Amino acid sequence: MKVAVFSTKAYDRQFLEAANSPKKHELVFFKPRLDRDTAILAAGFPAVCIFVHDQVDAQILEILASNGTRLVALRCAGFNNVDLKAAADLGITIVRVPAYSPYGVAEHAVGIILSLNRKIHRAYNRVREGNFALDGLLGFNLNGRTVGIIGTGKIGLILGQIMRGFGCHLLAYDVYQNPELETLGGKYVELPELFAKSDIISLHCPLIPQTYHLINEAAIAQMKPGMMIINTSRGALIDTQAVIEGLKSGQIGYLGVDVYEQESELFFEDLSGEIIQDDVFQRLTTFPNVLITGHQAFFTADALRNIADTTFSNIADIEEGRPCPNEICQNNI
Ligand code: NAD
Repeated sequence: MKVAVFSTKAYDRQFLEAANSPKKHELVFFKPRLDRDTAILAAGFPAVCIFVHDQVDAQILEILASNGTRLVALRCAGFNNVDLKAAADLGITIVRVPAYSPYGVAEHAVGIILSLNRKIHRAYNRVREGNFALDGLLGFNLNGRTVGIIGTGKIGLILGQIMRGFGCHLLAYDVYQNPELETLGGKYVELPELFAKSDIISLHCPLIPQTYHLINEAAIAQMKPGMMIINTSRGALIDTQAVIEGLKSGQIGYLGVDVYEQESELFFEDLSGEIIQDDVFQRLTTFPNVLITGHQAFFTADALRNIADTTFSNIADIEEGRPCPNEICQNNI
């Protein structure tokens, strides 16, 4: 099939071309994101392939449909950027990659926890400048601490397994309870109890209307003073302004995020020579106890291979008329 690949970085091209060998599909790579201005590039392509920041609203779907596109293949799990109803009305099939790196994301969350706790990011810079003083680098043992996991699906469960290995106690909250978490010794509790008892809270639930700004002023007020918040899920789970106030008062002792509510204006691009206009983001970067990575938790070679392989198997299913297990329609979400 002829596939227009949007938001292409060199690493996407490398892994997609490797998975497409021998050249079964005709891939054309476009660097820009899919949006109102670039949708025309997909004219004549029955399939388009997109990532997390591409826009697939009703207007863009109409442009795609009128130019012959019948399939949108997401190279990611989340589909909050796709208007599923408009796609169904226009006869456009949407497929995704539901799980490509649960270990990679959980391991990255643990990396942020360890770095924040032991100030490894600060120690790295100090040692390079010949500063071997330990003041300001005091950490705490993870052993015996309580980790609250919100969302105990694939990634949350793996985080629980890793943190159990450190000797942490596990509290969890999810709308569906996962028996495997309880097998690990974890205990499901309601959110107020999780907020009150956790030394570290890690978010692993999807961004949906019910979870929008889950971590807000009221939630932060219930937390242990000086606790740590980790978000590798979606930026809008956190009310960033409320978290900034929590950091200023010391109620939040550490913040580690791989995602940010307004990240689509920033992440995945080299803006090092530009003036960043987002003052909220810039304020976050000034705290010594905040560690931010730019949506890289998924970014392992294993994940990029899985994404490429699953994307082509999804496209092949649709092209050859087989049911595709990764098709998203309104009645299977
Ligand atoms: P998953 O579907 O396996 O698990 C999500 C869990 O959240 C499920 O158990 C579900 O029941 C639970 N949930 C749903 N609504 C909830 C609510 N209102 N409150 C609490 N829990 C709720 O998903 P996953 O593969 O574990 O991924 C988790 C999240 O990680 C995804 O939603 C995605 O946003 C994010 N993610 C981030 C990256 C990255 O690179 N940073 C990569 C992949 C996924």
